[in-house]
Amino acid sequence: MKEKDHLVSAGPNTRLAHLGNDPSDFHGFVNPPVVHASTVLFPNAAAMETRSQKYTYGTRGTPTTDALCEAIDALEGSAGTILVPSGLAAVTVPLLAFLSSGDHLLVTDSVYSPTRNFCDTMLKRMGVETDYYDPAIGVGIESLIKANTRFVLLEAPGSNTFEMQDVPAITAVAHKHGLVVGIDNTWATPLYFKPLDYGVDISIHASTKYPSGHSDVLMGSVSANAAHWDRLKEASITLGICAAPDDAYQILRGLRTMGVRLERHQASALSLAQWLEGREDVAKVLHPALPSFPSHDIWKRDFKGASGIFSIVLPVSEPSKFKAASHAFLDALKIFGLGWSWGGYESLAVAVNLSDRKIAKAPKEGPVIRLQIGLEDVADLKADLERGFAAVREI
Ligand SMILES: *Cc1c(COP(=O)(O)O)cnc(C)c1O
Repeated sequence: MKEKDHLVSAGPNTRLAHLGNDPSDFHGFVNPPVVHASTVLFPNAAAMETRSQKYTYGTRGTPTTDALCEAIDALEGSAGTILVPSGLAAVTVPLLAFLSSGDHLLVTDSVYSPTRNFCDTMLKRMGVETDYYDPAIGVGIESLIKANTRFVLLEAPGSNTFEMQDVPAITAVAHKHGLVVGIDNTWATPLYFKPLDYGVDISIHASTKYPSGHSDVLMGSVSANAAHWDRLKEASITLGICAAPDDAYQILRGLRTMGVRLERHQASALSLAQWLEGREDVAKVLHPALPSFPSHDIWKRDFKGASGIFSIVLPVSEPSKFKAASHAFLDALKIFGLGWSWGGYESLAVAVNLSDRKIAKAPKEGPVIRLQIGLEDVADLKADLERGFAAVREI
């Protein structure tokens, strides 16, 4: 379905409320049906032989997955979107789609750790070599491009340390050399950054985060521009990777409220980041929307907003005490849960391990704690963080 004309120029929340399925397709019901499907019947042998109908088999799409993919295409400005069972699969599938044995891959050093693990283990075993680059590299990426370089994988801001990257500069250099450019855009969502508008070929999302929004559904999406769509789609079919109907339904449901949820995540996270920055209990706040953050100018130039996850560095003079300080902080929290993932309604805190970094190394000032700011009241979150700081002062 082509995006309805009156929605193309509408505001982000209007679009989120109406993109995707057309209610008139299913008797006016506002939400799309949840189609559980493997077999699809054909009216006769000729139609079956030529597959001349919209739906042919469950793995190749249903009205439920189409509704979500069409909404995502409209948000990303992409030619097509595939759905996969997790955010990590949204990273691995496009790499498998575009890389072959003997190829070279460039990946930002502040990449999501399981992405690095995939590159360093499975891709390596399959004959693909990966080099990690400084997220601040910009046009300097040209010096890392070899004759066999095929793909550049960006993630901006980076996981846990939130360095921004000059996406248009890196993309322009990469395209000059005929490379495919992909970005893990999970932090920003297409509401706050639209990578394809900046020349990126492939936009990757852990829908597990803000699109889901409720710490329950796992899913990933990969959206491609016209030049890369056929190969991406073919790879997902070849691999047999698809998403479950109930999950696709829930992610579309999540998109309806994602704009208003993000506004709240953004406002709460920013007010806490500003409050934390002024405190003696904090050595550094790693949040791209703070003017003090080194790559803030890039965030300001390219992004429309900031989401609700950032990190703080606790001031601890001796490295031998980093672990005790971060454990004391985390164990004192009562509202922030200790758990992985983010983008849900509830606040979370984790001790960040940066030992796999080669270039964008861990800060020396102290241990890094990542905070996912949920939808709770900011005053209560402040009180909780105060409990953490008091516990650190005790050690
Ligand atoms: C969480 C995350 C993923 C992986 O998502 P899962 O659904 O948990 O597999 C990928 N990239 C980034 C940046 C993430 O934060």
